[in-house]
Amino acid sequence: MPGLMQDWPLTLDRFLEHAQRWHGAREVVTRSIEGPIVRSDYATIHRRARQLSQALLEAGIGYEDRVATLGFNTARHLEAWYGIMGIGAVCHTLNPRLPAAQLEYIVNHAADRLLLADPCFAPLVAQLRPRCPSVERVVYLTDAAHLPAGADGPDYEDWIAGRSGECRWGDLPEETAAGLCYTSGTTGDPKGVLYSHRSNYLHTLTAMLPDALNLSSSDSVLAIVPMFHANAWGLAFAVPAVGAKFVLPGARLDGASIFELMETEGVTLSAGVPTVWQGLLQYLDKEKLRPTTLKRIVSGGAACPEALLRAYQEKFGIEVRHAWGMTEMSPLGTVNVPRDLTMPPVAQGRVPFGIDMALADDEGRSVPHDGRTFGHLKVRGCAVARRYFRREQESLLDADGYFDTGDVATIDPGGMMQITDRAKDVIKSGGEWISSIEIENAAVAHPKAALAAVIGVPHVKWGERPLLIVQLKPGESATAQDFLDFLAGRIARWWIPDAVQFVEAIPLGATGKIDKKQLRAALGGG
Ligand code: ADP
Repeated sequence: MPGLMQDWPLTLDRFLEHAQRWHGAREVVTRSIEGPIVRSDYATIHRRARQLSQALLEAGIGYEDRVATLGFNTARHLEAWYGIMGIGAVCHTLNPRLPAAQLEYIVNHAADRLLLADPCFAPLVAQLRPRCPSVERVVYLTDAAHLPAGADGPDYEDWIAGRSGECRWGDLPEETAAGLCYTSGTTGDPKGVLYSHRSNYLHTLTAMLPDALNLSSSDSVLAIVPMFHANAWGLAFAVPAVGAKFVLPGARLDGASIFELMETEGVTLSAGVPTVWQGLLQYLDKEKLRPTTLKRIVSGGAACPEALLRAYQEKFGIEVRHAWGMTEMSPLGTVNVPRDLTMPPVAQGRVPFGIDMALADDEGRSVPHDGRTFGHLKVRGCAVARRYFRREQESLLDADGYFDTGDVATIDPGGMMQITDRAKDVIKSGGEWISSIEIENAAVAHPKAALAAVIGVPHVKWGERPLLIVQLKPGESATAQDFLDFLAGRIARWWIPDAVQFVEAIPLGATGKIDKKQLRAALGGG
């Protein structure tokens, strides 16, 4: 017997509807691609998103059509998300930092019909256009004055101008596809994760929880994690949903630009990958500055080294929430909420409601939650992928309905999960597993280290041994022995790397994480 409650499909337009109706004057502040700071609010974003919807419908875009975006975090990009999703089309976020050949593959695989691009990406668009025949039109996310010379499409302002925004909006079945995001293809071809309105809606409710991101209408949230990376960790939905102030940093993610925005906009919460926090910390140290309004940061996407956590917590009293997740999980998996600021949370945390996890050995048998035994980390939940887009014949789930994350982890009896490694980065030495993350964490605590990475290199006797790669802070010098001495006593003796290699710059991948594939290729790893 069905319940007798109202029919209220869980669709994403509701977040912006709510924000404009109940927090309409709350600010959305952008450091624009054109340069100046631009101020908007939820009422305006809502109106303009609907104007875009109308323009899309008039251009023949409808239900299920893929509309791609190639943009940094800006108010126009936010309008694009809602404008596309509001009419039942699919918002496909492209990562502009991917190589053009990979983007070409992704656009063709998704069969994107329309592309909304920041003007700074005009050269990339010019490269892609002839190779992506499904793309009928490009619209540049700018105004007439900043339309790139020789642009092959209109500017956004002109394209949406003169429209009332009155159009069919929302009123979709909640299972409708809403967003598409490809994994960066570190193994094989990129794979498309197709989010639904329902999955993103439920993910948003999870993200807002006190033990997750803990969002409130009194927050001012700076989203450094790009809208093209793993669903922007859900912030583009959760921030309007609570009616918090939204601060969007555009293209400038260096320490000075981020700090300036934090101070001028009274930012209380921000989210990004560890390399961003490392960059900001170096800037603060160099300029002898301290954030005055920032209370919490969320660090995710890669392991957050203990030294970094400690620096923010101990120097500035800023709470660091270490989060783990992935594109296939929309992306939130676990969050470590520090209950005691003297205990740095190097572990990746606990699952909030809506997510379940388990550990298995190589044969798929379950592994004890004793905080010591490594296992393959598997997850299930209402916002976890079950298949990839256009690979519908292959299920991603095992017999118990779990998705294998490709990560190796431990879980302690209290439910605290700690990532040991990505399965493909784990170093197998003499039949035992060495955690590259743990060695990196220990090495980067060296006062002269800016970044550290550990890869396995082939070894005749042991199979593989760890190689430590270090990028020193500007102007510093050190020897391999300095680092080996530093590691002694901090990690198990047999984990101590066989060699240390200093490099000018450790390469970062398209999502701002250390690119181990490139390091292996360059330094002869296995
Ligand atoms: P990509 O493959 O492009 O990096 P994702 O952003 O989806 O795509 O990456 C997810 C992966 O990033 C996880 O499976 C895990 O290996 C790693 N990861 C994410 N957060 C953390 C974290 N806090 N600690 C360690 N690894 C993390």
